[in-house]
Amino acid sequence: MSFEIKEKDLLARIGKIKTKSATIETPLLFPVINPVIQPISPRKINEDFGFETLITNAYILKKRYQNQPAQQGLHGFLDYDGVVMTDSGAYQILVYGDVDVSPKEIVEYQEAIGSDIATILDIPTGWHVTEQHARKTVNETLKRARQFFKQKTRDDILWVGPVQGGRYLNLVAHSARQMSKLPFQIHALGSPTEVMERYRFDTLVDMILTAKINLPPDRPLHLFGAGHPFMFSLAVALGCDLFDSAAYSIYAKEGRYMTENGTHRLHELDYFPCTCPRCSRATPKQARELPNMEREAFLAEHNLYVCAAEIRRIKQAIRDGRLWEHMETRAHSHPALYTAVKRLAKYRDFIEKHSPSTKPSGLFFYNSLSLNRPEIVRHQKLLAERYTPPKQARTLLLVPQTQTKPYSKSYEYKQIRKKLKQETAEAHVCFYAAPFGIVPSELDEVYPLSQHETAMPLDKETTEYVAEQTADYIRRAKPKTVILIHDPQNWNNTVLKAVKKTCKQNNITCTTTKLERTKQDKS
Ligand SMILES: [Zn+2]
Repeated sequence: MSFEIKEKDLLARIGKIKTKSATIETPLLFPVINPVIQPISPRKINEDFGFETLITNAYILKKRYQNQPAQQGLHGFLDYDGVVMTDSGAYQILVYGDVDVSPKEIVEYQEAIGSDIATILDIPTGWHVTEQHARKTVNETLKRARQFFKQKTRDDILWVGPVQGGRYLNLVAHSARQMSKLPFQIHALGSPTEVMERYRFDTLVDMILTAKINLPPDRPLHLFGAGHPFMFSLAVALGCDLFDSAAYSIYAKEGRYMTENGTHRLHELDYFPCTCPRCSRATPKQARELPNMEREAFLAEHNLYVCAAEIRRIKQAIRDGRLWEHMETRAHSHPALYTAVKRLAKYRDFIEKHSPSTKPSGLFFYNSLSLNRPEIVRHQKLLAERYTPPKQARTLLLVPQTQTKPYSKSYEYKQIRKKLKQETAEAHVCFYAAPFGIVPSELDEVYPLSQHETAMPLDKETTEYVAEQTADYIRRAKPKTVILIHDPQNWNNTVLKAVKKTCKQNNITCTTTKLERTKQDKS
């Protein structure tokens, strides 16, 4: 199978996957259809909501309807023309401990009904388990995966190889590496449902990235049970291409109303913060007064509209190169999500390595959370590994970032040079600037060093980051003299202290001049 990637941002991909029924575009959400009770019909999910995919449970189909879906064909049985993915009953193992079908039977069943994308019967690891038990689930899943390739008879179905291990990251890594060796077309991360119900999005980051690091990048990754739209952008940014969600209908049953930033109880709402076709034509009071089944359908439909809209926003953000900004906005929906975005610091090198280097847009930098952005990590690496300061530069002139960009064309900078004409005649100029740290003047028009907007005043972590980058640069460049233009208004003494200390330690002459602000600067 080819997964044709069209657009990238962070680890997110807009790409095409060819199935036997149709070609689908990632990132993609599969609404979960319970074949027994379903508030919205599959046909409606396709025609009214535009979902070209859905996922249903092969185990439930087999238990409840035996051969009927095989006789009618799965698409005919569901009255649905789109792409159908089937899960295998693994979730039922997680909930009930066991299922009464064999892995071989469930493979045969999915082939018989004609799923477009199908899943082997894996053993979910779960959350409250010992490492020993987790290892068992990983090994048993791997054993079943290997056996599966001797059992399957159809080549037109895309098969999913699930990665297990739960919160034991060493096991997730092992599971992913072993699964990679088998010719699955798609991989999935198993059992994160409990992690998400507990709002352990930081653990989810660890699980997803451990899987990503150890899986082949050209195979799509499915995240089972992704649930709520407020975390879609995080998961997509980390490289999850496919999701399924039953949350839209489970929430509806419980009277819960989703938004892209969180959840409301229907009985607490006075106004609908939504313009979907359902919310546009009713008030919360009217919705509350509907008979039970109708109210549930109302909420399920609204919830599904919200999920669909969020996926579309994420895709547009990928196109625009603004997925980080989008994810950061969503991170403010809940402290647990914010914690998860902070966790990306641990994986900054991996994310940088796999992120595109040019983008259609500039960066918006709000605070130190964004210091892990690939553009900033990449600049830091390029400067340390590839950049050599001009040979004749014995004097290093350090100038603070200016309001206008590029810095070297700014009025403030020209004034500084005029004033220090003699001392700096031979100097090499570097700007110390947020968020990139050190910007050599000859590079300051290179993307994205001038193409960004930064919120002022800077926070402590950002000033410390820039001070640290400045000190690192001095150690590498080894000038004889450093002339620092000190700007206490934007930088306190953070950069000043770091520069003085580094110069002292390396026997470099250091002179400092305080930045004078003209009337024009102040206005
Ligand atoms: Zn709505």
